[in-house]
Amino acid sequence: MALRLPSPTLVVLIGPSGAGKSTWAADNFSPDQIVSSDRLRAMVGAGEDDQAAGTAAFEILDRVVTERLSRGLTTVIDTLGFHAESRERWLQLARDAAVPAHAVLFDTPGDVCLARNDSRPRPLPKTVVRRQIGRFPKVRREVASEGFDGIHVEQPVELVAPQVLVATPEGEPAVGGASRPATGHTFGLMVSRFDWGGVDLGEELASIARRAEAAGFRDIWVMDHLRQIRGVGRPWEDIPEAFVTLGFLAGVTSTIRIGPLVTGITHRNPLLLGKMLASLDVLSGGRVNCGLGAAWDEEEHAAYGLAFPGTGERFEILEETLQVLPLLWGKGTPGFHGKHIHSDELICYPRPLQDPIPILVGGAGERRTLRLAARYGDACNVFGDPARVAQKVRVLHEHCAELGRDPDLVEVTHLTNAVAASSRREVQEKVESLRDRNTTAERYMARHNAGTVDDLVALFTAYHEAGAAHSIVALPDVGAEGSIETFGDVIAAFSSP
Ligand code: GDP
Ligand code: MG
Repeated sequence: MALRLPSPTLVVLIGPSGAGKSTWAADNFSPDQIVSSDRLRAMVGAGEDDQAAGTAAFEILDRVVTERLSRGLTTVIDTLGFHAESRERWLQLARDAAVPAHAVLFDTPGDVCLARNDSRPRPLPKTVVRRQIGRFPKVRREVASEGFDGIHVEQPVELVAPQVLVATPEGEPAVGGASRPATGHTFGLMVSRFDWGGVDLGEELASIARRAEAAGFRDIWVMDHLRQIRGVGRPWEDIPEAFVTLGFLAGVTSTIRIGPLVTGITHRNPLLLGKMLASLDVLSGGRVNCGLGAAWDEEEHAAYGLAFPGTGERFEILEETLQVLPLLWGKGTPGFHGKHIHSDELICYPRPLQDPIPILVGGAGERRTLRLAARYGDACNVFGDPARVAQKVRVLHEHCAELGRDPDLVEVTHLTNAVAASSRREVQEKVESLRDRNTTAERYMARHNAGTVDDLVALFTAYHEAGAAHSIVALPDVGAEGSIETFGDVIAAFSSP
């Protein structure tokens, strides 16, 4: 099994000449990731063995390492690695950049190093190599106490997103095969971007929804935004209106659940919203999830001439909406008179097929949002890494305890990105094709949870253990052939046989 290192990482190679350091680096990393004192000597001097060019080569090496680490780029330092002060300096550079540092030791038998040195076109003097071989055990002892995050012997390496390593206990494979229980963890697909350029938007969306249904996603979600939001895309990107889109999705699918994640309660009169959800539920055969939130995008409201009250008032409207919807959908025609919502006759026919439509309260605000979820919600939706989700679950359960509500009645869902690949090489290829030129591969991988199916099974197991029962994933490559199906392999790992 390969040694799994977090991406990004600093790798310091340590071993005598001829031990195989440069060969190992070339086998496991891309040329741009490797900073070699020999190569730099050749660039600034007469050749790899130009000792007079050593000082300049090491100055440049340090500079390159500094630049790369400060950008969060994986960096392999290919030198003898015998100089304690240099190692200390590199470790400090890694600390400064918050990049973990790993040492890789090349304990190749001395006679092998000497033989390899002999067969080089320009061998080093034998005495030099012998001296290095003699010093190696001492260097090895020094390295043990220098503060590297890991000290390893030479072996094949795989770079994985750090959150995947956190999710996988040390030394264990990502997936324990038979030892991994099916947890019943379920998945939803978030379609937040429609930037599929050059395709028929409806046709493509229908295809995505049907493929998601076939791949085992429990639900499919769209944001309720009138223009694309910051952090997802540019404001002029295509983004069809949410409820029109949901009506379309209802028509082109048959079993997958559908819903807004989330609808802002300021976008429509809340009773009109309830009417739309009820109609959607009936027309979809009872497949609606109602995601509600307090809205936040002030510029969007301004652009559409929508009122955007202050935070306190928006939360009041959200709470009244949570109170009134079950009444609107329920039996009879009661009146409702809140501070913001008024009706003498809550009337909605056809009534929803589901009794009632499950309501998800979106947002991770601990004081207000999670309290509303605890009080009124059938589900909540939070985000962040498993540790953050665990913290939100604790807060949700505290609210439930205070309100006397059974926490099992509030399903914890969370929203995150995922790029699933069927091999380590495909992870790299996908990251390279998806990242923009200002985003390093390392950063893209971490932000979008890019990994193999096994990586993602480990990661979502960690989310499950954090208290989430349902993961809603945005797949940046959702339109690409096979992307939904590969994620389907992750879903399958969690479902009972
Ligand atoms: P370095 O001095 O530690 O960087 O060692 P190199 O990676 O340059 O390797 C020295 C020589 O040994 C090169 O000619 C390599 O082709 C060869 N070499 C490196 N690793 C291996 C190995 O695993 N097996 C064999 N047979 N040769 C190797
Ligand atoms: Mg070398």
